[in-house]
Amino acid sequence: MNIAEFLLPGMPELPEVETISRQLSKLIGGKKIKEVEVRLAKMVKTPLAQFKRALKGAKIRKVGRRAKLLVFELDNGWSFLAHLKMTGQMVYQSTASNKQLMAESKHTHLVFHFSDKTRLLFNDLRQFGYIKLADTNKLGEFFIKEGLGPEPLEKDFALADFEALLAKKPKAKIKQFLMDPKTIAGIGNIYSDEILFFAGVHPLRRNQSLKKGEIKKIYQGIKKILPEAIRSKGTSANNYLDAFGRKGGFLAKLKVYGREGENCVKCKGRVARIKIGGRSAHFCPACQK
Ligand SMILES: [Zn+2]
Repeated sequence: MNIAEFLLPGMPELPEVETISRQLSKLIGGKKIKEVEVRLAKMVKTPLAQFKRALKGAKIRKVGRRAKLLVFELDNGWSFLAHLKMTGQMVYQSTASNKQLMAESKHTHLVFHFSDKTRLLFNDLRQFGYIKLADTNKLGEFFIKEGLGPEPLEKDFALADFEALLAKKPKAKIKQFLMDPKTIAGIGNIYSDEILFFAGVHPLRRNQSLKKGEIKKIYQGIKKILPEAIRSKGTSANNYLDAFGRKGGFLAKLKVYGREGENCVKCKGRVARIKIGGRSAHFCPACQK
């Protein structure tokens, strides 16, 4: 483990999980699970026998995402959910490519074996990630119980919805507000920093102090930056890998996150870092008011 993993926690976020879900849907959609090999039982939050029984012989119908959860829908009425937390990876391996075999390590805790001899690895260095079984028909209920906020990239998530959410928590600081999964799903440390830089808004500003134009700019930042990051297959500031075991390309496009002390790309001032509620906020004191 290197120092950067302590300094830059909080991975992966919506763009990374969305990248993996889209890739996996293509890679393993329609495949039959021959067996699940569980090497570290605590990663599975469902009684192991029940989990294995539900998966054995089932076909993967599709892989989707809700908030930061990967949702694997099976053809037998069951789904299983995977949360990557800080350092989880879901890497696909076709036996045709030896290069991809490098992704297996002592941090590989689950291996999904498919009937065509391909595999899916669930790796997790810090072991905060988990997998659990869910009744597909009750998924909607489950997500409501979890209290997850709306999906920011859904077409029906409009500016008026965002304004209404802000109005519910007038005293919240905007950075923490954006990162709260109960407010909006999937935005964490990296993308909240980037969205606020785009909007020119200081991370410590309270919601009630934001002008209409600033709120609109933050909303536009959400709708612009998250899809850009998905197109780049996410950000590998930490140990994030996509489903092919490759790093995401958005790291080079970050404007403030992880760039403390470097020149601001807009004004040539310096990017600063402050602590907010135990998390880091990176921002330009000159550009963000
Ligand atoms: Zn600046």
